[in-house]
Amino acid sequence: MPLAYKEGFRAKPNRKTIKKHIQMINTKLLKPQSIVIVGGSDDVQKPGGKVLKNLIDGNFKGNLYVSNPKVDEVQGLKSYRNIAELPQTDLAILAIPAKFCVDTVKLLVDEKSTRAFIILSAGFSEENEEGAEIEAKIVEKINSVEGSLIGPNCVGVLNENYNGIFTTPIPRLDPQGVDFISGSGATAVFIMESGVPKGLSFSSVWSVGNSAQIGVEAVLKHLDETYEPGVSSPVKLLYIENIDQPEMLLKHASSLIRKGCKIAAIKSGGSEAGSRAASSHTGALASSDVAVDALFRKSGIVRCNGREELASVASIFMHPELKGKNIAIITHAGGPAVMLTDSLSNGGLEIPHLDGPKVDALLEKLFPGSAVGNPIDFLATGTAEQLGHIIDACENDFDEIDGMAVIFGSPGLFPVFDVYDLLNEKMKSCKKPIYPILPSVVNVKDEIAEFVAKGRINFPDEVIFGDALCKVFHTSEPQPESIDMPKMDTAGIRKVIDNADSGYISPDEITELLDAAGISHSNDRVVNTEEDAIKFCTEFGYPVVMKVVGPVHKSDVGGVVLNVKDETTVRKEFKRLMQIKDTYAVQMFEMYFGQEIFIGSKREDKFGHMVLCGLGGIFIEVLKDVQSSLAPISKEEAHGMIQRLRSYGIIKGVRGQEGVNEDILAEQIVRVAALVKTAPEIFEMDLNPLLGNSKEVVAVDARIRIEKD
Ligand code: ADP
Ligand code: MG
Repeated sequence: MPLAYKEGFRAKPNRKTIKKHIQMINTKLLKPQSIVIVGGSDDVQKPGGKVLKNLIDGNFKGNLYVSNPKVDEVQGLKSYRNIAELPQTDLAILAIPAKFCVDTVKLLVDEKSTRAFIILSAGFSEENEEGAEIEAKIVEKINSVEGSLIGPNCVGVLNENYNGIFTTPIPRLDPQGVDFISGSGATAVFIMESGVPKGLSFSSVWSVGNSAQIGVEAVLKHLDETYEPGVSSPVKLLYIENIDQPEMLLKHASSLIRKGCKIAAIKSGGSEAGSRAASSHTGALASSDVAVDALFRKSGIVRCNGREELASVASIFMHPELKGKNIAIITHAGGPAVMLTDSLSNGGLEIPHLDGPKVDALLEKLFPGSAVGNPIDFLATGTAEQLGHIIDACENDFDEIDGMAVIFGSPGLFPVFDVYDLLNEKMKSCKKPIYPILPSVVNVKDEIAEFVAKGRINFPDEVIFGDALCKVFHTSEPQPESIDMPKMDTAGIRKVIDNADSGYISPDEITELLDAAGISHSNDRVVNTEEDAIKFCTEFGYPVVMKVVGPVHKSDVGGVVLNVKDETTVRKEFKRLMQIKDTYAVQMFEMYFGQEIFIGSKREDKFGHMVLCGLGGIFIEVLKDVQSSLAPISKEEAHGMIQRLRSYGIIKGVRGQEGVNEDILAEQIVRVAALVKTAPEIFEMDLNPLLGNSKEVVAVDARIRIEKD
């Protein structure tokens, strides 16, 4: 694997990966009966002081202890100068320098039955080798008793049982609120700061820090395994910097979503600076970020790019599900309604025009000058009562409407409590989702605060809301739990792979491999003499294609001759081709006609194999119009990939031009995915191009590179 690529993938290059054998989230972490703050202090500007304050303010129901060698009392609690004097304690929250952590953990494990730890302190693997060693020792000790460790280098854990974080804001806790897992403590705070003022409530917050033992994936696994419909929170938010265990993430994210959950995530660190030197199209197109995209798509996770978007998507998740594309925009101001209309229609949702007797009847209930065509504008003077009529009509009379966005701010002349009260009442009774867009966060901040206090969520900006709604609506369902593999000659595939050395495999091996995988390819033959070349032409007929065997990029060296129609040309070209540097044979092909298509696959560290497809030629070179997924791929998923291509219209056939048989193309994608799954030694492969028409999709050029450990 090229070094540049390896480095590009790792967001924290000096971080030492620690083997994680045990990932235990035990009840002592979830529901401790007793907690000790080691390093607890009176100074609430320090983590040890603030976490204690948060625990006290949060009315932790169990026993709360403090250990601080310098004092006898901290924040009104007895402080144990020596940890050895502490009573037995379930959970320890450590806010002491890294170098003291190992001994503290050992003592607590051995003498105080402590089985859960949250280490807030920094100075571990994120800092240097020495820190990494300390971290490893701590993990080893905690693992030896199947204990839980959150952190180090994190802001803590918050759930219905205790406020084990040293930061603010402490969000409103609600069992149906968001379960939020973050790989970065500071970012966790900022994401909460984005969500809290909007009214987003939380069920749990997990800041996993260095993920020494428990990472984002492990928490998600826990949430999946303990999920109880109707009881557990149905919304999960993730902020991830490193995906250590993509398979685990895929498994549990898709499982949760299948159970009815909704998940949104930010995976930062996607733009790989500079392009890697790559020998194939697949190599150049398949960055690790493409793999993340593919993983999220396969899981059904809504991928977000920033905090505001994540908070907005989470807020949308908290509303009833939008079942169709058609939105009614209800407003008392023109501008935001127009901007929202643009956002929704650019994002693939619709704002259908409304007319007919029921619409006319609604218009009569509004002030003169109102408009009901959609957006429904009931003017700056519009009243709560009128808003009620509009919402009732959208809910009951306008069958085509699937959801409502209500924009209602205030120029600051009079209060709008009555409007927001009505909105709250209607949201209780309506089945269709109603999204409140309340832009006047200054003018009517008291009204918004009251609305939010009722458990409602505000979307302050209509465009951020609109973009988020489109994204949520267009996120596909997770992959099925198991994917049927196509029938293949598995033994045949293994035979070729086991006998091959690392590097590009020969044309004959490629043919054998494609045949065994059931991937249709051109009729071709490698020949060493002019006579054998002629023999091929007699058997298959003219025209033929002749290519050099040896050079990797054949066209670049003038090594591809198309449309050869007679024996004289075959002889002449054979002689010429054999002169080309590195050429050791000539490959004869039948000539095929059709649209150029590309299918490729590349092994991505930890993710398995990515499979990409697109149209060949300029479509990948210039437009980078490719779609990707992770192997294995179902037939349905393959169709999804094809249909998401911008050039899908060309595959279907435009203006009388023959299209490509989509089903056969999907089958080829499925088979490439199945091949690399069966032969993980394939590091990268390119079918570039396949030529496709309405009857067949045939690979005419294939490159396969094997890399064995
Ligand atoms: P390389 O990728 O090494 O330059 P290819 O084998 O892909 O060489 O050939 C170059 C181009 O020639 C292809 O993109 C395709 O357009 C055309 N071509 C190759 N083989 C055939 C064939 N058997 N029938 C028709 N066109 C072909
Ligand atoms: Mg090619």
